[in-house]
Amino acid sequence: MSAKRPVELNELLPQVMAGIEGLKATYGSWDQHPSLHADPDEVHAVLGELIERLDDNYPYFHPQYAGQMLKPPHPVATAAYLATMQLNPNNHSIDASRATTAMEHEVLDQLAAMFDYPSDFMGHLTWSGTTANLEALWISREIAPGKAIAHSADAHYTHSRMGEVLGIDTVGIPTDAIGRMELEELERELATGRIGVVVATLGTTGLGAVDPLADIIPLARRYGARIHVDTAYGGFFAIIADELDPETARHFRAVKDADSVVVDPHKHGLQPYGCGAVLFNDQSILRYYHHESPYTYFASTERHFGEIQLECSRAGASAAALWATLRVFPLTKEGLGGVVLPGYRAAQQWHSLISESDILQPYQRPEIDIITYLPRVRTMTELDRTSHAIFEMAADTARPQQTHLATYVVKPDQLRVRGIDLVEDAPTGRIMRSVLMKPEHEPLIPEMHYHVSMWSRRAYAATHDGAVPAESAEAPVG
Ligand SMILES: *Cc1c(COP(=O)(O)O)cnc(C)c1O
Repeated sequence: MSAKRPVELNELLPQVMAGIEGLKATYGSWDQHPSLHADPDEVHAVLGELIERLDDNYPYFHPQYAGQMLKPPHPVATAAYLATMQLNPNNHSIDASRATTAMEHEVLDQLAAMFDYPSDFMGHLTWSGTTANLEALWISREIAPGKAIAHSADAHYTHSRMGEVLGIDTVGIPTDAIGRMELEELERELATGRIGVVVATLGTTGLGAVDPLADIIPLARRYGARIHVDTAYGGFFAIIADELDPETARHFRAVKDADSVVVDPHKHGLQPYGCGAVLFNDQSILRYYHHESPYTYFASTERHFGEIQLECSRAGASAAALWATLRVFPLTKEGLGGVVLPGYRAAQQWHSLISESDILQPYQRPEIDIITYLPRVRTMTELDRTSHAIFEMAADTARPQQTHLATYVVKPDQLRVRGIDLVEDAPTGRIMRSVLMKPEHEPLIPEMHYHVSMWSRRAYAATHDGAVPAESAEAPVG
């Protein structure tokens, strides 16, 4: 029988507080300097004010929050972070982080195994997906100076921004009707000879679309370009590839053949912010990090993370939190896979409910756990107004009934390739988007769909002078 049950942070705190106190006490006690003293009443008052101010937020922790990519860390991660943070190791150097550097190596081995990377991969944790991607793009610039980055038009904006930082051109490759990079368009760019690296996104931030990595790899290789995979959001879906659409799964399984990959444990890995990762499947890139005697520095297992990363100081607590979390939720179908899979099922279920709705229609089928949909309206202006009204009305109600959604901006031709033809009275319009990244969303889907449909009817009426939405006969169904 499983002894599993909800574990609260409260029950873990006494152990980590006493444990760290005990550890410190073995070095003997000392008096805190008076300059660090504080009036406890004042501290309590400030903390009280903090809690009050934190109420000015959307409830990211709640399953009724189905908006952006936000959820709190698991209590295991918080407890481990808090324990370690009291010692505040810095994984920049081994001297500053003996225990947590070792833990970082252990979690990196697990992340590499998740992607089937070779055991002699190179990599490290980062503060964020942004810095992880920057590093992979920097390495490709060093390997092929002067060459451009090709990414999908729907890729995270970080790639074009980092191209600016690195002083290299970026090319947005158009996407198809399900938000995937168009291979023919990519080949046309590759054929010019100016592309140094192709960035494939597995799980775009907007749509959760999965670029056709398995087909991009042979294509890019033929033209001598590197392949970098940005799976900052979607990476942990590699664990449950068997459960995904076979075509989506094929691309997750191809990560092992890419030159580098980025994944954010602070998105689907139950971690607090400040935890990204970059992995390279070939140690030879290490020479770009140091120009003198790289062998001396890097062939030893005792290398410091600071020698192989762009960042300097980096939280050892972050490595410790991920290490503890992966001990409890290993990167297996039964472990973290069991946390990721319900969101995928929730997205599929909500998508089919929306497909049958007379007030809402899907934008595209979800490949992972992000759904996009829109009200059945006639014009771009109506679309934008109604979507915004749905978003506001669903959130702006008594707390227990609140539903939190997000919106996503699209252009008329993006709708048209998906079979939705709207009067082009505006260049763009917002549609609805929900990231279903909490496993608790799954049982709530019928109820959330009911509420969102209700808000959609009201939003439609409010934005159409009180009119009732046209029933299917009249409504443009696209
Ligand atoms: C979130 C995300 C990023 C940026 O990562 P941060 O951790 O927010 O810096 C980059 N690419 C993709 C696909 C993402 O989802």
